[in-house]
Amino acid sequence: MINERCSKLLQEVIREKYSNVKYENIHVSDEEFYYEFKCDEVISENDFPVLEEEIRGKDNVFVKLLRISGVYLDGDSSKEMIVRIVGKGFASSEEVKEYEDFLEDAKERDHRKIGQELDLFCFSDYVGPGLPLYSPRGCIVKDELQREIERVCRKYGFQKVSCPSLADISLFETSGHAMKFNDELFRVKSPKGHSFVLKPVQCPHHTQIYASKLRSYKDLPIRYMESDKQYRAELQGAVGGLSRVYAITVEDGHSFCRVDQVKEEVMNMCNLIRDFYSRMGLWDNHWVSLSVRDYEHPEKYIGSKEDWDKCEEMLKEVSYELGLDAVRCEGEAALYGPKLDFMFKDALGREIQIPTVQLDFATPKRFGLFYIDENGEKQVPVMVHRAVLGSYERFLVLLLEQFKGVLPIWLSPVQVNIIPVNVKYHDEYCRKLRDLLLDEDIRVEYDDSKENMGKKIRNSNVMKNPISVIIGDNERDNNLVSFRRLGSEENISLPIDEFIKFIKEEIKKR
Ligand SMILES: [Zn+2]
Repeated sequence: MINERCSKLLQEVIREKYSNVKYENIHVSDEEFYYEFKCDEVISENDFPVLEEEIRGKDNVFVKLLRISGVYLDGDSSKEMIVRIVGKGFASSEEVKEYEDFLEDAKERDHRKIGQELDLFCFSDYVGPGLPLYSPRGCIVKDELQREIERVCRKYGFQKVSCPSLADISLFETSGHAMKFNDELFRVKSPKGHSFVLKPVQCPHHTQIYASKLRSYKDLPIRYMESDKQYRAELQGAVGGLSRVYAITVEDGHSFCRVDQVKEEVMNMCNLIRDFYSRMGLWDNHWVSLSVRDYEHPEKYIGSKEDWDKCEEMLKEVSYELGLDAVRCEGEAALYGPKLDFMFKDALGREIQIPTVQLDFATPKRFGLFYIDENGEKQVPVMVHRAVLGSYERFLVLLLEQFKGVLPIWLSPVQVNIIPVNVKYHDEYCRKLRDLLLDEDIRVEYDDSKENMGKKIRNSNVMKNPISVIIGDNERDNNLVSFRRLGSEENISLPIDEFIKFIKEEIKKR
């Protein structure tokens, strides 16, 4: 094991170089190692190159020291502070280089960095940690995503609904979520005696829209969708990130259908997911999990064994018929039923589960939902839960990291950025062009700041604007638009009306 060897070598070098080394502790995993100690000298990251070099001198291995931090001896805050150096061992210099490239790339792609650079979202100590605020540019991206997902879902028969963020606790007691998310519920009380919770999920609210009318077998399936905030007091992730937050905006949808419609509903939803992700250019990068019960602990789930058996079998058939190649994962099912989870890899190789299709025989029973069948009898519908985009926050992480902040034109906060060669001479024409584009619902910005043209072009590229328009004498005198695409040096010139047509087609392409 290379990390084991490297940790020992680091220890040797430290003992030789520094005085009075004590409180040593070594920990090794497949990924990394760390070495803890205390000595008389102060060590910093600046010493890493020398230490790495000396280790290499001792043996034919390569070490990359990653970070240094202060920790308490034995993890006990009443004891002394010691130093921890984390490193990783490699067998060749090529491997080190590869790893350094990976780290560099990871830094480039970090959504927190991109989010700040592109001014998409922020956090505030006043508002509280884990509560992201979308700035105007980020809000455009979020709204466009919502428009797109709703457009695709409407094709598959979903209707939009809207519910409040609060509900009486009894709603979630009945659904079982009060028990499941007990430690994660935000409870809201009022001086007037209300005992509400902020919704941790949206499903129970939707059951009540279904229940608001008498339903006939001919009305089913009934499909609702909603993009709204959900609240859970989850363990927090990295500060300033969107990966784990208290308030997430979830794109959720439910279908209430007859048992004989379930399979087609599930297929319908899987096709919807494929449709959306293909369009986003993300479909190639996934695998599917058929998430079933933990058979050793049936008490963890709601619903009868019979229903569960039926559902699991049905999902297996769907996976086979649609060629999803789902991998069976025991113990990964939801509280109320088995599911198909679509797992994506982000740009750094970490796995994220986003879309999901879940069968649920239990919730409709708990809420006493029914429809009238062809014989005039009451029947319980099946509920199918589906998430396509999942949470907007997590989806943005995937998108920003995958494309390094370069969003397709339909999602870009600014689609066209107009830059005059000289504000003094070209201002009027630039304004006219801006107004024409605004009339066509194109998101346009006109940079009439005092910077010079070169700086403006660079700024436009930093903000990843897909189209930068440059207006000089020739454009003004001949009613032309000259533009560059992001990442290209090529200048293209078009008459104004053709330029507008071109942009609108680019946006429509998705
Ligand atoms: Zn649901």
